[in-house]
Amino acid sequence: MKIIAVGWNYNAHNAEMNRTDIPPYPVVFLKPETALLKNGKPFFLPQFSDRIEYETELVFHISRLGKNIAPKFAHRYYDAVTVGIDFTARDKQAEARASGSPWDIAKGFDYSAPIGQFLPLPDQPRKADNLDFSLSINGTTVQRGNSNDMIFHIDEIIAYVSQFYTLKIGDIIFTGTPAGVGPVKIGDHLVGYLGETKVLDFFVK
Ligand code: MG
Repeated sequence: MKIIAVGWNYNAHNAEMNRTDIPPYPVVFLKPETALLKNGKPFFLPQFSDRIEYETELVFHISRLGKNIAPKFAHRYYDAVTVGIDFTARDKQAEARASGSPWDIAKGFDYSAPIGQFLPLPDQPRKADNLDFSLSINGTTVQRGNSNDMIFHIDEIIAYVSQFYTLKIGDIIFTGTPAGVGPVKIGDHLVGYLGETKVLDFFVK
């Protein structure tokens, strides 16, 4: 399986990062399968970074093989959603940016993609509309988002990325983070909600 991710997909987050030169298409990157962290297992802060930041995102599960998928059919290619964290080594990302190099390691290191339990979506168009999600750390809500605020809807993302990458059953797509990203530290307890349902729950160690 592969993990596809989209950056810069919420205006409020782009503003907090002082990002203005956003292209008119989804900014896509990949994380390797070894980035996955599931079943509430702890996330161990890696040695190579002094600043690991959480980015809370809706994550969709691909349920059908496809390539060059039209936006109007894209809803047929995903069947479930959860909340995930796009952990980012912000210092490594800044280093890479400064030298004009790809920032793959800053986003794709081991266990940089914790995901929660998937909840099924109905088999109908616009099924990803108006999905609320949030993250709390140590009992305080730090990020809130709604799928309606995404610049590129999941259907548009699927249409775009499937021009380049064949989608396979079991692939997952991270869809970008709303405002409120920040660092994690040892002992933090991260809990992710889809609506009112707790789907993600793990500790930083
Ligand atoms: Mg992200």
